[in-house]
Amino acid sequence: MLKPILFTLIVTLSFPSLGRSLKVLIDPGHGGDAPGAIQGPYQEAHYTWLWSQALFKELNKSKDFKPFLTRKKGQSLSLEKRVEVALKTKPDVFLSLHLNSFKDPDVSGMEFYIQKSLSSNDMANFLAQFESHEEIQNSTSTQFDFLKDLKLDLTHELILTGLVKKKLQRKSKLLAETLKKHFPDSRIKYGDFFLLKQLPHVSLFIEVGYMSNPKDLKNITRPQFIKKQVKKILLGLRLYKQSHHF
Ligand SMILES: [Zn+2]
Repeated sequence: MLKPILFTLIVTLSFPSLGRSLKVLIDPGHGGDAPGAIQGPYQEAHYTWLWSQALFKELNKSKDFKPFLTRKKGQSLSLEKRVEVALKTKPDVFLSLHLNSFKDPDVSGMEFYIQKSLSSNDMANFLAQFESHEEIQNSTSTQFDFLKDLKLDLTHELILTGLVKKKLQRKSKLLAETLKKHFPDSRIKYGDFFLLKQLPHVSLFIEVGYMSNPKDLKNITRPQFIKKQVKKILLGLRLYKQSHHF
């Protein structure tokens, strides 16, 4: 039987609805017991929360967006739980916010990270996570039940999963490129992230700047700067929404 997640993916990718709000799930990196990177008195998790909350408030002012947060202030949340929140929320876009750190203090700037291509092992893990989520299997649409009749073996499920994940990766890249228009000095990079590997959504990591770079650190911890930057993220998301007819 075709796994419910696969036809959820097919439905999501094939039938975008017109004129509705873009559902954005904002993930404040780390939190609670996990402070993330530390630079003197500065803890990454404190600022991922400030950035996420500022972005949430900004998006919430506009009818174009329906923002959500994966966690509460100061809450510890495992990566697996973040995936679960995303599966329940079913966002159009998932953004995980972080502050970067590197041994060379000269390295600076904002970066957008996209998941690089998945290995067949990654794809098997992606599929396997849904076997253990009864709740998710029961929550799928019945409108496309005919797809369940496609009795696929594991090989074909993996091929289909691979195609869907490729399409998501292309869309995630498009989102990064659209956001970058408002941040000309930023960079787009590929990486390997558990969260991005496991999510069946358009998803990015946004590293807002380097805590290890003194100039960046001064900016990215300043409320005025955060406010200015989240307004630009909103503009990028709006452009993405318009070009995708949400
Ligand atoms: Zn981080």
